[in-house]
Amino acid sequence: MALVEKKSFGMVDGIENFIYTLKNGQTEVDVMNYGATIVAIRTADKNGDIKDVVLGHDSIEDYRANTCYFGAIIGRNSNRIANAKFELNGKTYNLFQNNGTNNLHGGEFGFDTKMWAAEMADNKVIFYYTSPDMESGFPGEATIKVTYTLSENNELMLNYHAVCDQDTIVNLTNHSYFNLNGHESGTIEEHSVEIKADYYTPLDENCAVTGEVVAVKGTAYDLNTAIVLSNEIDSIPDFEISGGYDHNFILNSQKGQVKQIATVVGDKSGIKMEVSTDKPAVQFYAGNFVTESIGKNSAKYGKRSGLCLETQLCPNCQNMRHLGNAVLKKGEVYSDTTVFKFSV
Ligand code: BGC
Repeated sequence: MALVEKKSFGMVDGIENFIYTLKNGQTEVDVMNYGATIVAIRTADKNGDIKDVVLGHDSIEDYRANTCYFGAIIGRNSNRIANAKFELNGKTYNLFQNNGTNNLHGGEFGFDTKMWAAEMADNKVIFYYTSPDMESGFPGEATIKVTYTLSENNELMLNYHAVCDQDTIVNLTNHSYFNLNGHESGTIEEHSVEIKADYYTPLDENCAVTGEVVAVKGTAYDLNTAIVLSNEIDSIPDFEISGGYDHNFILNSQKGQVKQIATVVGDKSGIKMEVSTDKPAVQFYAGNFVTESIGKNSAKYGKRSGLCLETQLCPNCQNMRHLGNAVLKKGEVYSDTTVFKFSV
């Protein structure tokens, strides 16, 4: 049975922030109240040495100063909403433009900056956050619950749950930056990545989606067979815009079923991460814009120190309904699951 331990990790505006550690005897996962963030994932490499495979910081002050969303839960809406506005029930909602003219990851003060209440159970930590009506421009009071569970098989499961007292939009994800060779080991360029997606959504000059849905076959976006990132990443179409992979892939799996959708392997460590989800899409971000910073144990981070697989709805489906539906109606339940499984 996995265990949970709790220790103090600084203060946020007068409220004590804690790290909760999930342990199963092989893998340990640290999560904290601030942003319901994954702070560390420690697991064994092919030699039995323990590696911490996510980027993060040693202090809450460094987390608050960083703008890369290391490990945080993203909401009320993940990814870019073009022109930072959307229409719902005939009304236009204007959001904060925090990425050029886009709204990115819920705006300037998204769920990643909030103090979540926590509850510990046997092998779980459950985080709760109530987002007030019109917080960051989104309608309705939304009640959010995110549960982290560590299984005996080194699966870290994230269950997302939301309800709202009015119609609203909800699209939640986790923004962990993985480096399976260890967070301090340099770039992820020699990692291999496979994503089971036959279609992707190209970018406009503002890094928002154009709305086209394009087949990956015959392009550098075909990751159905694993590639080593360095073989493709600097010559992909859209490189001038995104500086490498930073794209939404439409998953082949059907929504409603938790299916394996991606596999990543660290070339030096042999650590493999399999990602499963019931969400319809994933943003594969290769960390091209990671700003230089000092991370855990004085590690130096920068461009491509980690990669993200942000399971979610297609970006800008709030304005482009052919890409999906982010509307959560009053009385409905938003619920989905993503699993990160570690092995060698
Ligand atoms: C986006 C990137 C962005 C990063 C940090 C990712 O989800 O796809 O373009 O730089 O988040 O904001």
